[in-house]
Amino acid sequence: SNAPRRPGRHFLQIPGPTPVPERVLSAMSRQMLDHRGADFQKLGKSVLSGIKTIFKTTGPVIIYPSSGTGAWEAALTNTLSPGDRVLMVETGQFAVLWKQMADRLGLRAEVIQTDWRIGADPAEIEEHLRRDTDRLIKAVCVVHNETSSGCMTPLEEIRRALDAADHPALFMTDTISGLGTADLRHDEWGIDVTVSGSQKGMMLPPGLSFTAVSEKALAASRTAKLARSYFSWDDMLSNNANGFFPYTPATGLLYGLDEAIKLLHEEGLDNVFARHARLGAATRAAVRTWGLEINCRDPKYYSQAVTTVLVPEGHNADALRALALDTFDISLGTGLNKLATKAFRIGHLGDTNDLTVMGALTGVEMSLELAGIPHKKGGVQAAMAVITDSMNKSPRAE
Ligand code: PLP
Repeated sequence: SNAPRRPGRHFLQIPGPTPVPERVLSAMSRQMLDHRGADFQKLGKSVLSGIKTIFKTTGPVIIYPSSGTGAWEAALTNTLSPGDRVLMVETGQFAVLWKQMADRLGLRAEVIQTDWRIGADPAEIEEHLRRDTDRLIKAVCVVHNETSSGCMTPLEEIRRALDAADHPALFMTDTISGLGTADLRHDEWGIDVTVSGSQKGMMLPPGLSFTAVSEKALAASRTAKLARSYFSWDDMLSNNANGFFPYTPATGLLYGLDEAIKLLHEEGLDNVFARHARLGAATRAAVRTWGLEINCRDPKYYSQAVTTVLVPEGHNADALRALALDTFDISLGTGLNKLATKAFRIGHLGDTNDLTVMGALTGVEMSLELAGIPHKKGGVQAAMAVITDSMNKSPRAE
């Protein structure tokens, strides 16, 4: 091709897909095997039990060879019947898409609106559920980490809202960009269906989805009437009981998953979450110093996986992204739907560390200058201070 060589590493700073660790890449580079044989069974059992530790559940986690959207569909079709009411919160573009799916499946979605600058408000959910005196709402669906807006919802508060309203609806969440970046306790937080994907905090290529399912959701699946076949949970669960799949599994990705789970535990989940929190704080310090606006307007909802940054009126975030890519070989996330051209996103999730994020912020600060976007200098300096401060407070054990 005519494209000039790009020396060094591409900075993939979008909020997924994220860079895949070398050990995961090597683990996937294996010959095919008999997916009905003993070697596969060992792998199947290993990933099916390992993934439960990431969701903090003792129940089943279903692994589909699909992107996260497939698991969304499975969550709705396995538990609900045509015309069922579901309560959704429009936290951003991914909530919009999940609602669109509910519409297409013949469900009746009731939507709590937001301005896409906060997460889901537990008080509003509680109030909405209290008004549903006939208990017609069958599920409450909340996006954990809204990748478009950079807002994360504390899910334990949503559970408490359902309990406070004494409402029997299923609690479903999409943690496609939250898993592996922030704590997630499927069992303890009383979540019924937790949906995620491989290409973000799990540090894998796109192509696998994960669905943790509670006893209550399994019970609902026995009477739910929406049509489902490939995405039916029951074939999957009966085969998984022995480490197998009802159809040809994505063996290459499963080798990678086995390794990715090992990596997360080698670092320690709490350390993984602390790292993401630090990188999020460093990124926000840079944005504030630049004098740009963080889209998430309430610190309670700050995402530790992605920061959505608003550019000043009259400037185009996509022009900034194009300049950054062309000049510094860094991919930043685009603004989605109503944030298009108004915002760009800095991903700080997955297999990333202090220096990759510092490099990314340096690239953004230089790009702001070259793009002529009004800002103050010193964002990179401010981010460095957040990182060193956090290390002084909790020095690392040797
Ligand atoms: N939900 C959230 C929060 C996401 O971030 C994404 C993808 O970015 C999706 C859903 C859709 O997942 P997928 O693209 O894997 O189907």
